[in-house]
Amino acid sequence: MCGIVGYIGKENPISILIQGLKDLEYRGYDSAGIALKNKDNIQIIKSIGKITNLQEKCQNTNLISSNIGIAHTRWATHGAPSKINAHPHKVGKTTIVHNGIIENAALLKEQLVKEGIKFNSDTDTEVIAALINKYYKNDPIKAIEKATSELVGSYALAILFDDKEKLYAIRKDSPLIVGIKDNAFFVASDITAIINYTKNYVLLEENEIAEMTQNHISYYYQDKEITKKVLTADIKSEAKDKNGYEHYMLKEIMEEPLILENTLKPYLKNLDLLPNLKDYEEIHIVACGSAMYAGMVGKTLLEERAQVKVFCECASEYRYKNVIYDCKTLVILISQSGETADTIAAMRNAHSKNIDTLAIVNVKTSTIAREAKMHLFIEAGPEIAVATTKAYILQVALMALLAFKIAYDKKIIKDTKILADLQKAPCLIKEILENRKLYLKIAKEIYQSTNIFFIGRKVDYAIALEGSLKLKEVSYIHSEAYQAGELKHGTISLIDEKVPVFAIITDKQIEEKTLSNVEEVKSRGAKVIVITNNKNITNYPDIIYVPKINEFFQSLLVVPTLQLIAYETAKLRGCDIDKPKNLAKSVTVE
Ligand code: GLU
Repeated sequence: MCGIVGYIGKENPISILIQGLKDLEYRGYDSAGIALKNKDNIQIIKSIGKITNLQEKCQNTNLISSNIGIAHTRWATHGAPSKINAHPHKVGKTTIVHNGIIENAALLKEQLVKEGIKFNSDTDTEVIAALINKYYKNDPIKAIEKATSELVGSYALAILFDDKEKLYAIRKDSPLIVGIKDNAFFVASDITAIINYTKNYVLLEENEIAEMTQNHISYYYQDKEITKKVLTADIKSEAKDKNGYEHYMLKEIMEEPLILENTLKPYLKNLDLLPNLKDYEEIHIVACGSAMYAGMVGKTLLEERAQVKVFCECASEYRYKNVIYDCKTLVILISQSGETADTIAAMRNAHSKNIDTLAIVNVKTSTIAREAKMHLFIEAGPEIAVATTKAYILQVALMALLAFKIAYDKKIIKDTKILADLQKAPCLIKEILENRKLYLKIAKEIYQSTNIFFIGRKVDYAIALEGSLKLKEVSYIHSEAYQAGELKHGTISLIDEKVPVFAIITDKQIEEKTLSNVEEVKSRGAKVIVITNNKNITNYPDIIYVPKINEFFQSLLVVPTLQLIAYETAKLRGCDIDKPKNLAKSVTVE
């Protein structure tokens, strides 16, 4: 969570920092702040709420002339989202911005208070600033190393010292890159924040320190100078524009046909580009949020159609479980950012037990992409809207393709003809996306509801989970996904004429059973909206028909309908669609 930007160079950093924060706002937006440096003068400006509040404040403030600055957009973990708790935090000569959580902050703070340090905020970040400052005796590298060695938890830090015309950066378990330009250096949580200025960057590994002056950069690890490789980002700066769409969420949904085609193309030409997974006796799918629900689709397909034993769980539970690996197991990790803290921990646990891992990620330079034993990339490009759409559909597509490949390698499926249906999917999705009037009509029927259910069985239930999550995230309507047959064992008591129920019915084998469950809720007054691939289902006032394709890939055609209904509903309710309250993308804290 949280976005960090830093700059040192010849220019005044204010506009670079503000624009960078805006580009990172998807990572957190409860408060923001900036520190500008000129000789030993540090000016700190903070505000609560969105970056525009900070920008306005900066415009109305007499800013010092400067060529070094650090900035932060916060997603609070320790202390309320207030001005006092907003970063940067300054203790003595040390000013820092921080992304992450320090788990032993209370203990360290107690000790520092005993030593006479006074704290202004409730944050764990101020403790880091105090600790670095305590050890700062004119040697920044030593002070940073000594202080961070005492921290338990995660941190990405940009650091300024009053008496050094330099910018420092260090990270552990939270992302941070260094941008390189002639006579200027940047630090950023994510390359999108600086892509307008440079595509060249350096990835800091755990606890490596970057020390930057206007025209020189040095790297240190354990007090020794090291060299680092400069990489070039392959994203275009236009990728972060809205392209005329009102919201990133809508733009990203509309990109689905194209990115799906791009991601699938190489595999459809040569299936052997996918890893050979047929010899694994068990697969564990570990992820968080929508990525886990993409994993649930994968689980259903792998079990049903590829005869693999699969276990799918959210990473925050899995990582603390006593997972027993008693046969040849593969752990599949799914994460858009590749920086999801819980998923990283689950991956490292698996590695510590010598278990193979396969990552499905969007960000190629991310921790999970770099550390997993195998990886598959979704080619989604930057996803800016906090609620995932395009990355999710690609995760589903790759899980479906992996399930197909295992079934094919195991000779459960004899030929690759059905891949023609996957090839058609982008085109069919394009048509589905054109039906926006229908989704708006349904949104108008549900947007004033307080509770909504999504029901389905098997793969339709897996998709219902994501439909429900998407609606909750962006429209703030309480909704639940339920296995259609399970509703009657208690939860049906909540159903009445005020509760809309979306029923997803694409699995032919179980269709009759789900239809019976639909009748059960209908007879209790629920307003039913059916999403199906069966044109013979007709006797409901609201039906969304999606084209029928092979069961492996059918879910791909349901996903966009649910995403657009969530989008239109949120819009009717006047919600902040791209930045829903309390959420942040790239959940880099536990
Ligand atoms: N733990 C820090 C805080 O609560 C940083 C949170 C963040 O990453 O935004 O202020």
